[in-house]
Amino acid sequence: MIYRPIGKTGMSASIIGLGTEHLDNKPYEVCEEVIDAALAHDINILDLFMPGTPVRENIGRALKGRRDQVLIQGHVGSVDLREQYDRTRDVPTCQKYFENLLRSLKTDYIDFGMVFFVDTEDDYQGVFETEYIDYVLKLKEQGKIRAIGASSHNPKTAARVVETGVLDLLMFATNPAYDMLAADADIGAAMEGKIDRSQYDGMDPDRAYLYRLCESKGIAITTMKTLGAGKLLSPDFSPFQKPLTVAQCIHYALTRPAVVSTMIGCNTRAQVLEAVNYLNLSDAERDYGEAIKTPKGSLSGHCMYCNHCLPCPVGIDIAATIRMLDIAKLDTSNIPTRIREQYSASNHQASECIECGSCEEKCPFGVKVVEHMQAATQLFE
Ligand code: SF4
Ligand code: SF4
Repeated sequence: MIYRPIGKTGMSASIIGLGTEHLDNKPYEVCEEVIDAALAHDINILDLFMPGTPVRENIGRALKGRRDQVLIQGHVGSVDLREQYDRTRDVPTCQKYFENLLRSLKTDYIDFGMVFFVDTEDDYQGVFETEYIDYVLKLKEQGKIRAIGASSHNPKTAARVVETGVLDLLMFATNPAYDMLAADADIGAAMEGKIDRSQYDGMDPDRAYLYRLCESKGIAITTMKTLGAGKLLSPDFSPFQKPLTVAQCIHYALTRPAVVSTMIGCNTRAQVLEAVNYLNLSDAERDYGEAIKTPKGSLSGHCMYCNHCLPCPVGIDIAATIRMLDIAKLDTSNIPTRIREQYSASNHQASECIECGSCEEKCPFGVKVVEHMQAATQLFE
């Protein structure tokens, strides 16, 4: 397993995490099988947003004696009032469900108290202009949560949440198809394959900005909807010319700036094994460079950090260099120290580029790599 540091928290997450939503309404034995497989393969982070007591208790029982081996994202305000999933910012209700989460898991802390589902202006106001956020901050003060996270599907709202400065972690809906949709696109419809394929075209600037913003501020991202609810794997629904593989989807998520872990929803041991098998695959098997090209090709010119252009004869990590450049360009007068440090620590820097052009020949997106290397040299060296 590979672990990545979670921002400034001092904690590290396995790059493959476990989404537990498919364990809802399943017998205990299924939870045990999945949690056992995840822990056996060194997965150390799981997301648990479901409000129902039975699934929470099943997960708690499966983790018995092993609570300290996992980081848990537990969501504050996820409820099942009126017998359906919903969100509330009402503090007594949030408190009731949060205390139930602790009780069900037989623990006295949650690693990441997640501000649940902040997508709309109403969500934002409901969180940050009410006592809800005071409640979350108090949970942290009391040690009932170790750090504060939030979940969102909307890049504009998520960026506002990040700008508040209260977060250590953002859980965001990340896959190559959603990244081409405008902030106000109906993700629910996208998940059902009901969005016209022609809308998937070009990296949405708000989403690109969000990833860079998180990276520049040291806010870690964990991803959800990495497989697009399975739709990206299906020839009938994938908006691309071919369906993607699980490994390509995982690799796409893990190569977005700031992403530390991708939560893969599993309800069988085989699914856990398929997710962790990512670690055994070659670069070529993970490569999504050609796979996410759209018929109109309007990703053209934008680096997707896919590494399809490697190897570079002088050993420059081209995707990482362009990613740092993109983050620095957010505010060239105030480049984050950690980005400068990352750049300085690179084994080979942009100024070593001999302008051989082999990367540009291989890049599926027509990125002018040499120009990027020159810009990186100017900004960082
Ligand atoms: S330059 Fe092209 S091939 Fe290289 S990482 Fe960027 S998009 Fe991928
Ligand atoms: S043009 Fe520069 S960055 Fe690209 S492969 Fe050649 S040396 Fe490496």
